[in-house]
Amino acid sequence: MSHSARRPSSRLVRPEVGSITLATLTAFYLIAFTNRTFFNRSFEYFDNHLSLAAFSLGLSCLFAAFTIAISVKYLMKPVLILMVLSAASASWFMDGFGTIIDVDMIRNAATTTTSEAGHLITPAYILHMTVFGILPSLMIAFVQIKHRNFFAKLRWNLTAIVPLLLLALACGVSGARSIAAVTRLHKDLILTLNPFVPVGSAISFALASEADKNIVAAPLGTDAKVAGPTASGKPRVLIIVTGETARAENFSLSGYARDTNPELKKRDITYFSQTSSCGTATAVSVPCMFSNLKRSGYSHRAGLANENLLDVFGHAGITTEWWENNTGDKNVADRTVMHSFSNANDPRFCKDNECLDDVMVGQLDTWLSNVKGDSVLVLHQLGSHGPAYYQRYTPEFARFTPECSTGEIGTCDRQAVINTYDNTILYTDHILASVIDKLKAREDKIDPAMIYMSDHGESLGENGLYLHGAPYIIAPSQQTHVPFVLWQGAEMKASVDAGCLTKRAVEEASHDNLFHTALGLMSVNTSAYTPKLDVLSACRKPASGANS
Ligand SMILES: [Zn+2]
Repeated sequence: MSHSARRPSSRLVRPEVGSITLATLTAFYLIAFTNRTFFNRSFEYFDNHLSLAAFSLGLSCLFAAFTIAISVKYLMKPVLILMVLSAASASWFMDGFGTIIDVDMIRNAATTTTSEAGHLITPAYILHMTVFGILPSLMIAFVQIKHRNFFAKLRWNLTAIVPLLLLALACGVSGARSIAAVTRLHKDLILTLNPFVPVGSAISFALASEADKNIVAAPLGTDAKVAGPTASGKPRVLIIVTGETARAENFSLSGYARDTNPELKKRDITYFSQTSSCGTATAVSVPCMFSNLKRSGYSHRAGLANENLLDVFGHAGITTEWWENNTGDKNVADRTVMHSFSNANDPRFCKDNECLDDVMVGQLDTWLSNVKGDSVLVLHQLGSHGPAYYQRYTPEFARFTPECSTGEIGTCDRQAVINTYDNTILYTDHILASVIDKLKAREDKIDPAMIYMSDHGESLGENGLYLHGAPYIIAPSQQTHVPFVLWQGAEMKASVDAGCLTKRAVEEASHDNLFHTALGLMSVNTSAYTPKLDVLSACRKPASGANS
C-alpha cells in the first residue's frame, strides 16, 4: 500500500482582502445597488445638477467613512452583513411599493401576524433577497480580511476617514443652499436613505419597546357614569367596526364613480365625507382612535401610558368586548374581554390562519341574544388588508374584473389591482350592512347604534406608491382620508336633529372624534368627555341631553 506524500487539498482558497478595501467596496455596493429610490427622488427634486452631484458625492464619502470606521476585527463582518441584508430587504419595499421604513413601519411589521407578513414574502421577494442580500453577504463572509494591528489600523483608518469627511464637508458646503432647500421641501428624501434609515428605525424601535415594557396605563374617566336608562328602558348597544385599509376615495358614498356601497346606501346611515385618520398604519391609528389624546397629542408611548375609550366604558359599568380578526388589538383591549377569530378554523371563511370578516358577523346573533345591559362591542375587521386583496372577499363579491389574483401586485395591471381593491370595499359594505341589519332586527329589545371608521387608507399606484404606512407629514390623501359611517336605531336617531346632522356630516371629522362620539352615543357622563369632539353633540335635541 502506498501513501501519497500530500493529500489533495479540498479546501477552497479564501481570497484575502484589506479591511479598508472591503469597507469601501461594501459602501459602494450599498449606494449603487440598494438606493434606487433615494437617487431617483434626488434626481427629481434637485433642479441644480451640480448640487445633486455634490450631495451624492458627499453622501458616498459618509457611507465609506462609516464602513471604514467599523472595520474592526469581529465587528466588521457582522455589521456589514447586517447592513447588506437590511438594505436588500428595505430596497425591495422602497423601490417596489414606495414604502418608507420608519419607526412606525417597523412597529407595524413587528406587531403584525405571521400570516399577514407572509403575504409580503413572495417568490419575487425571495429572489431579490438572494441576489441582493444573501449572495453579497456570503461573499463578505467568505473573504479573509487582512487586519493590521491596533495602532497601524487606527492610523490607516484615520488616513482614509479624515479626507472622506473633509470631502463630504466640502460637498455639503458647496451645495448647502440647494441641499437645505430640497431636504426641507421633500422630507421623504432622507427617509429613503438605505440602509441607515431602516436600521436606525429598527434600533430606535427596539430601544423604545424595551422602555415601553414597564409602562402602566394611567386611569382615565374613573368618574364615568351612564346618564340614566333610555326612555324605553332598553339597553344601549354600540358596535364599533374599526376597519382596515379602506380609503374614502373608493367609497361610492364619497362620490366614487363605481357603486362600491350598494348595500350601505340602502340603509339609513350618516356618512361623514371629510374624515381624516390619525395615522397611516394600524399600529398607530387603532390605539390613537380609541385614545382621548387626539392626533396632535398621540404617540405610541402616550397611548400605552393612558387608559382608553374601552376603559372609560368599563368605569361606567358598560360591558365591553373586542373581537379581533386583524393583526392584533395594539394594546387597546389590554383590560377588555378579547375574542380572537384569526384561528377560528371555520372552513366557510377561514384559510391559513386568516378569516374573512363574515366569521365575526356569524357570531353576532349569539352575542346580541346575550346582551343584558348597556354594551359596546368592537369588531376589528380584516377589511381590505393588502397586498393580497383577492383573499379578502367571497367569490360573489368579485364583481369588478379582471382581478389581481396574487399578492405580488407589482406584476398585475394597475387597473386589476384597483378592481380587486374595490371588491374588498364591496365586501366591507356587505359586512357593515349585515351588522346594521342584525342590530335593527333586535330594536324591540335593544337601543342600537353602529360606528364604522377605517383605520387608514391605501395607495393604489398613485405616484408609484402602493400599500400604506407613509410618514404622516408626507402621506398622500389616499392614505389619510377614511370612511366614517354612523348608523343609529330609531330611538337614538329620534334624539338627534336630522338636518343638523346632515350638515355636520359634510364638515371635517377625524379619528379624534371617535372617543367622544362613542361616549355620547352611550350617554356616558365623564370629565374625559369633550362635547365639541362628539360629532352628534351640536345636533342633539335638548330634551334628550344626557351629556352636558
Ligand atoms: Zn390598518
